[in-house]
Amino acid sequence: MIRTAIIGAAGRMGRELCRAVLEDENMELAGGTVEPGAPELGADLGELCGWGKSGVSATEEPPSDAEVHIEFTSPEATIEHLSYGKSVVIGTTGFSDEHHKKLEEAAKSVPVMLAPNMSVGVNVLREVVSEVSRKLGSSYDIEVVEAHHKHKKDAPSGTALFLGRAAAEGRGLDFDEVAKYGREGVSPRSEGEIGVHALRGGAVVGEHRIVFYSEGEEVEVVHRALSRRTFADGAVRAAKFVASASPGLYSMGDVLS
Ligand code: NAD
Repeated sequence: MIRTAIIGAAGRMGRELCRAVLEDENMELAGGTVEPGAPELGADLGELCGWGKSGVSATEEPPSDAEVHIEFTSPEATIEHLSYGKSVVIGTTGFSDEHHKKLEEAAKSVPVMLAPNMSVGVNVLREVVSEVSRKLGSSYDIEVVEAHHKHKKDAPSGTALFLGRAAAEGRGLDFDEVAKYGREGVSPRSEGEIGVHALRGGAVVGEHRIVFYSEGEEVEVVHRALSRRTFADGAVRAAKFVASASPGLYSMGDVLS
């Protein structure tokens, strides 16, 4: 049994994670934290996620005996929580370059698994996108379009960047040099550009489309998350991986392989 604490247990993903851990026979829910002063403080985590009474309450600080943390909060909170010094699976998105340096620093002493999308499908798709991009070649124009629910804070999504990088990689391009975020006004397409566009609305869990256009055809690679459970299941799989991993920065690719 891997004693696991959910950091950000009252969030949309936090609740899904509590349920996934409670339902997994090899995992034990050691605790779950909420933002200081949050109304869910002291609530039963099983009841909070609709699983039923678990006897584990939401706290402001994680229990000291948790072996692994799973964190889906905000970039600032996640960086602050590196001071816990625990093996951690991080699903939070929207990190800056400065944040990434701190994550790399933390990974020198504990295993840190970081993935902007924990679903198995998206991570398998990464290879497919890179390969399709390579095989179609430079005459095909690439556009990445993502859609999420209206409460999502960061744009474009971490997954759009992840898949955009894969498309650029397949062509030997540096994504940061060719990415074009949205278009407005007079904005003709330049050679090798990869357009990235974010739609926000309703309750969309997550959709990513990578489109390759030539003069004569359109090739589209699509991923649609049907429920947040797919991210939670991936995070639980990653938690089992980090529980016995050496210090280092890991991706979902490491977990799946
Ligand atoms: P949310 O706003 O519903 O939940 C975030 C929760 O974190 C909130 O309940 C908030 O109160 C809590 N929080 C903030 N600071 C905290 C602190 N210091 N201590 C404890 N809790 C704190 O958002 P969400 O939809 O659950 O998404 C959370 C993050 O996960 C976002 O960055 C989102 O983009 C990302 N996400 C990643 C994946 C993935 O597969 N990697 C999938 C879905 C969402």
